[in-house]
Amino acid sequence: MSADPSVAFPSYVEDGALNEPRLQSLADFVITTLSLEPDPENARSHFLLLLSSSWAGAFPKKPNNQETKPSESKEHKKRKPADNNIVQNMNDKRMRMVVSYTGDQRGNDIRVEDVVRPKNKRWAEHGGEEAKSWRRQSRAGCPTYGSCQQCMRSGPVGMFCNACNKPESQPGYVVLVNGDKILDSITLANILNQGHEIAKADRYFTPFMVNEESFGNTNMLLAASRVYGNIREPEIKERLILEARHSFYDMME
Ligand SMILES: [Zn+2]
Repeated sequence: MSADPSVAFPSYVEDGALNEPRLQSLADFVITTLSLEPDPENARSHFLLLLSSSWAGAFPKKPNNQETKPSESKEHKKRKPADNNIVQNMNDKRMRMVVSYTGDQRGNDIRVEDVVRPKNKRWAEHGGEEAKSWRRQSRAGCPTYGSCQQCMRSGPVGMFCNACNKPESQPGYVVLVNGDKILDSITLANILNQGHEIAKADRYFTPFMVNEESFGNTNMLLAASRVYGNIREPEIKERLILEARHSFYDMME
């Protein structure tokens, strides 16, 4: 080991060109590329496509659109049971997710008026007035629908994705957050045309069903590259991936 500081801290680290989120992105790109493109030549071009798309600089920097910092992701990792009374009540009787559930709704799809989602169909502020009001409709106090982190389909929070068939590690629908924004999973699924699973009216609620994961520009890029991974024409693939990233950027405005 050398004590020379210029060796210990190369200039590209010092000037921030390579920081922890970017190294994480690079690692994600490598994993995604290897899983999508076993052929070395295709893998090389796919990796370079992801890299150039990621660092294209096509988007102005805004604080809310940055990749979530490690400290933030820890904060949002798990949603705490929001109300101790609810946990206490669960010991007495199981509770329905929909607050206004009545017996005649048994077996039906959730009523439109009982669906919780951000009013602007893009996002709602974490801990804001709108998000606080959700508890009047849903015992979970979060959007009715979350996202499958594998395929980006939207579906009832806490349930397994019905489009991803992975017996050993089936992904579930989770609430996605970007900084202090709770994202609308239905809109995310629409951007990537991945479909939607409708919730049932008579679902039971347990706090353990509701998990949050951070989701930023890099996640959207990776999701789009998985969705469009089978497209052989590089120009079409790149256009679709960048369009998805543009739509996500508009969604975060
Ligand atoms: Zn899925």
